[in-house]
Amino acid sequence: MNDKKETDVLLATQIVIEQALQRLGYEQDMVELLKEPMRVLTVRIPVRMDDGKTKVFTGYRSQHNDAVGPTKGGVRFHPAVHENEVKALSIWMSIKCGIADLPYGGGKGGVICDPRSMSIRELERLSRGYVRAVSQIVGPTKDIPAPDVMTNSQIMAWMLDEYSRIREFDSPGFITGKPLVLGGSKGRETATARGVVIMIHEALRLKGIDLAKARIVIQGFGNAGSYLAKFMHEAGARVIGISDVSGALYNEEGLDIPYLLDRRDSFGNVTNLFQQTITNEQLLELDCDVLVPAAIENQITEHNAPNIKAKVVVEAANGPTTLEATRILSERGILIVPDVLASSGGVIVSYFEWVQNNQGYYWDEQEIDDKLRLMMIRGFEQVYDIHRTRKVDMRLAAYMAGIRKVAEAARYRGWV
Ligand code: GLU
Repeated sequence: MNDKKETDVLLATQIVIEQALQRLGYEQDMVELLKEPMRVLTVRIPVRMDDGKTKVFTGYRSQHNDAVGPTKGGVRFHPAVHENEVKALSIWMSIKCGIADLPYGGGKGGVICDPRSMSIRELERLSRGYVRAVSQIVGPTKDIPAPDVMTNSQIMAWMLDEYSRIREFDSPGFITGKPLVLGGSKGRETATARGVVIMIHEALRLKGIDLAKARIVIQGFGNAGSYLAKFMHEAGARVIGISDVSGALYNEEGLDIPYLLDRRDSFGNVTNLFQQTITNEQLLELDCDVLVPAAIENQITEHNAPNIKAKVVVEAANGPTTLEATRILSERGILIVPDVLASSGGVIVSYFEWVQNNQGYYWDEQEIDDKLRLMMIRGFEQVYDIHRTRKVDMRLAAYMAGIRKVAEAARYRGWV
């Protein structure tokens, strides 16, 4: 496989979708239906910038399949967003929702922009512009957005406000990951990291490693990475390496996580404050028990997979490991908890948020945590069981667990 092919996330997704459906006994027509999203909207969003000039941004919303229910998934703001990436991300959301048994199909959105170089008012205008541009195809019973890379609860609040103005009624279930006062859920902000913690526990249990003695490396210090570092530190594990876009920090004795959290900016940058840094490449190859890629796609590839020393890789990011790297790690006996399972805490608590919005009754944090734990462990057991009994790697097992519900729903509806 050449590099470009290896890192084409849509192609990689389609390969595993096809393998999963074949193993589940489906014919090619089902593969044809599910290997592409049913709808992708490209929008151009004119935004008045602070200097008075208009800049036009390109955005996408991809809806993979709504046989199970309305589509669901985040919106990312990032300079590297592209159409095939958003399509793949929407397919992954279908798999996530399938494994967790949520009544949703997968969706995803993205805008090509760099929020780090935009003012808060420019970001507000872009967020509102995005909602105006996609408003025809989204809604609480159609397609429900949420936060993703470089979007947060404030951006969700602007998007909700814009949608409510367009529809002329308040509609909190239109979007999840909102601030609490606008109908957000307790535990949503920390949900992805909480889910990853539960998966780390399960994986370490299988490997016979005690969490309190474990050495953890986390790539990325955004929402998932930073809360995960906090929870691991609180659990007594040693976080020996972390990174952000500009570099990585390493200390064999364990990093001072509370100090780093205190100094991190809202985009997760912290390493630029230090002189003694290692590179991201070195970080991934550190000797450790648990490696958590919590940044972006294609970080573990065929080039560095042979050098990864972690005993388990728990994927908090979407798509951090290529297929070739998955094969190499699996053959080397490294246990992978794949993204579609490990990072599903976010969408699970988003589902709880949407249910609470629909019923107008709000749960306490304990209830959220208990329900999240139950669903994550059930997901892990399901995937691990398929991995063992069908003798497939953990990624293919996760796809099999996730896609079967979508395929079954599509068949009942008579689409295939
Ligand atoms: N963006 C998150 C993900 O990739 C959460 C999606 C959601 O809550 O709908 O899973």
